[in-house]
Amino acid sequence: MRRLFSIRLAIVAALSLYFVSCTQEDEVVAPAVEEPSDELVDFLVSSGFSKDEIKLEEDVFVIDDDILIAKDEVQKYVDGNRSDLSDARTEHYRGYYLVSNSYVTNIKFYIDSSVPSSWVTAIQGAVSQWNAVNGTKLYMSIVSSSSNANTVIGTGYSSENWVARAYLPSYNGRPGHTMTINTKYNYLNSGYKLFTIVHEMGHIFGLYHTDQTQGYFINGTPSVDSNSVMNSYILPWNGFTSGDVSAVQILYPQ
Ligand SMILES: [Zn+2]
Repeated sequence: MRRLFSIRLAIVAALSLYFVSCTQEDEVVAPAVEEPSDELVDFLVSSGFSKDEIKLEEDVFVIDDDILIAKDEVQKYVDGNRSDLSDARTEHYRGYYLVSNSYVTNIKFYIDSSVPSSWVTAIQGAVSQWNAVNGTKLYMSIVSSSSNANTVIGTGYSSENWVARAYLPSYNGRPGHTMTINTKYNYLNSGYKLFTIVHEMGHIFGLYHTDQTQGYFINGTPSVDSNSVMNSYILPWNGFTSGDVSAVQILYPQ
């Protein structure tokens, strides 16, 4: 794990590319550093996260820099308010919550008007890429009204080295409700942008990072998958790996 972490940092240093955090665009406050309650952190650790990678910023846990889960969500689980889940227990990793059948067959994204057109193109491309994966009920679309959406994609500016970040599915089986693009990285070329959005959509429906060991290992996926779109660093888009395809086919079979 140290080795992977070092590689990740080396790449970050070389490319100044790194995934993600989310602030409202009109806020300039530094993220508050809070001391998470032991109970919630213990739950996250018991569900597969490593303690070193868990930060709490303003009531949202930030894990591995780009995976978000609201403190309330964690509390709901701890309180025993657990929804029924697909019981898939499947070195692709998933989180505890998956998207339920009623949402996963059409995850609806709304693109906020603040999103630059180059990122809109990447979002449209990412939807097409995920929809082209065969053998899964996973399907998604872009809707024109935020009230009709499951996930809102918006922008924020952060001087930190994250490109975009996204919420995980919630305890009630809904897709992650927000994805935020850091406008600091508007200069990225289209291949990096597409990779970024495809990756963040993976978090929206419950995938974790392939190059980390947090979450539940998805049985049936490869133990090493260095070109996976769910690696924690950005690569130029070059299509899904067979491991990426297997992960969604296993989690969301047709
Ligand atoms: Zn990520």
